[in-house]
Amino acid sequence: MRENYISVAFNLPVNKFFWYRLPSEFEDGVEKGQRVVAPFRKKDMIGFVVEKSSTKPKKNLKEIKELFDKASPFSLALFKLAEWVSSYYVCSLGQALHSIFPFPFPFEEKNFPSFSSYDSCEKKKRIYLVEPGRAKFDFVLSMIKKAKENGKQVIVLVPEINSIPLFQRKIEGLKINLGVFHSKLSPRKRYSLWLLMREGKIDVAVGTRSLVFAPLPQIGMILVNEEESTDYKQKETPKYNVCQVAIKRGQIEGFPVYLVTNSPSLESWYKAKKGIYRVLCLSGERKFPTFQIVDLKKEKKKNRIFSSLLQEKIKKTVEKKETALLFVPRKGYANFLLCSECGEVVRCPECNIGFRFYLRGEMVCHFCGLRKRAPRVCPFCEGVNLKKIGWGTEKVEFEARKLFPEAKIRRYDLDVLKSSSSLLEKIREEKPDIIIGTHLLIKDEILSLCSLVAVMLFDVLLNLPDFRATEYAFHFLNKISQNLKEDSSLIVQAYNSSHYVLTARSFEEFYEKELEIRKVLGYPPFQSWIRVLAEGGKKDKVKEKIEEVTEKLKKKNIKLLGPSPCPFFKTKGKYRYHVILRDEDEGNLQEAVKEIVYEVTGRSVKVGVDVDPVFVT
Ligand SMILES: [Zn+2]
Ligand SMILES: [Zn+2]
Repeated sequence: MRENYISVAFNLPVNKFFWYRLPSEFEDGVEKGQRVVAPFRKKDMIGFVVEKSSTKPKKNLKEIKELFDKASPFSLALFKLAEWVSSYYVCSLGQALHSIFPFPFPFEEKNFPSFSSYDSCEKKKRIYLVEPGRAKFDFVLSMIKKAKENGKQVIVLVPEINSIPLFQRKIEGLKINLGVFHSKLSPRKRYSLWLLMREGKIDVAVGTRSLVFAPLPQIGMILVNEEESTDYKQKETPKYNVCQVAIKRGQIEGFPVYLVTNSPSLESWYKAKKGIYRVLCLSGERKFPTFQIVDLKKEKKKNRIFSSLLQEKIKKTVEKKETALLFVPRKGYANFLLCSECGEVVRCPECNIGFRFYLRGEMVCHFCGLRKRAPRVCPFCEGVNLKKIGWGTEKVEFEARKLFPEAKIRRYDLDVLKSSSSLLEKIREEKPDIIIGTHLLIKDEILSLCSLVAVMLFDVLLNLPDFRATEYAFHFLNKISQNLKEDSSLIVQAYNSSHYVLTARSFEEFYEKELEIRKVLGYPPFQSWIRVLAEGGKKDKVKEKIEEVTEKLKKKNIKLLGPSPCPFFKTKGKYRYHVILRDEDEGNLQEAVKEIVYEVTGRSVKVGVDVDPVFVT
């Protein structure tokens, strides 16, 4: 039977496929997943072939213009993974296929090796939560060796580009074919690497997020390092979580997945507890973070940036010619300017968030990046007493220079620095006594250079407007603690010094407490969440739209939280409302949301879906 009709999925937010007639000269050469050029809304577009049919699905079909690829770049398993991404993360199949194979170059098949056999019934392969202690690299290298012996290939995922070089150096020692894959490579480079992987010439591929889709023909396992990192959550549609995609891929293709971390996400901890993940604790026991807490409430007012204990510790560190790292959660000199006459705060007109004040006399909105000269008088009442409230890295530097005039002090911000990758070299070269900065400094190799680390104001981390703030604060302390040398010390300054993240004495104690709170509040991991977010320039329209969505959801008897204005209600000139859907089980709500979202999204208000959202701000 001649199959001369095909359906095509485009990389567009459209919940359907489009049928075309296939000219007879192309009939033999079309496969599922292959890209074709088709007329669509008055222009030619590239789309993915989804289905072939011998019966005409409807009248007046347009004709396919040409075949963009010579063959399908997808294995059946990867195509199936795309279908799962599309249904679980609520995007079109075209968007999912495009995120797996985004290259603008025609795929021309050479004689590639076939993919390892794949049968369509999914096998439950083991998922391991590996806590390696100090043996992280030993573990990764031993797994790679084992795979190599079995003729299998390995994907090693890391949360950010900066973590790649260290893995690269360790793996290169094994003398195997290594591919390094990340978003900073040009599309051309990434595509040639993709081809090498497809040809089976790469034994181990190391890289960030989208490497999870690597077309290794004999894939043996995926290792996800620092699985708790929020960098594994994709920020654009489809907003997938790399760990979940890796696990799904493992199920489809029948290989194990290893989530490697010394600070498991609460979700993973919970799944391990329920027996869904198997725990491999390599060091035998977990090393709980150790630190000294300073209660800022008890400090004299003049010591509320540098507590007396911290001053003493820094002095000793500087005397010993060692390095102290001062982590300040915010940049700039002051968090905002407050008029002491009328009480108004100088805010970004686009985001309604207080402008951060910098010493150079500038104000910056940390949300949209808008910069302005700081006013000398209040823009509301023309009063002359604008008070600087709160403090950031510049203020800490200013105070440090007064307190430790002899010390070599360096503040490293992205403002001062051109890129974060040169930071380590710069620190090694300049050898400062005291380094001051934000999250940029919290990197394994930098921490290992310091004998004193101080978190200047822990409360900022605890009070982020996100239900996972406490968990993130825990990972943060854990990460610092894990990377410090044996005799180095960590000081945490906080007003809320009796918070359970600071007083817990074991992993179990912290996770159980956090789980208890999440359970009471109906938060993940006890409930699965999907967030529907409406954004637009006109407040009333956005509000109307989210109410329309809510009404439709209510008719389907879905449990809801909201609708409500987002914690960041206005950003970059757009108003934001959201509603959160909740269910005890994973994967129950997607169908309902899909139907509604594609129906309501419009020109003036954009409606987006985020499944298992990470930042609910
Ligand atoms: Zn005023
Ligand atoms: Zn702004």
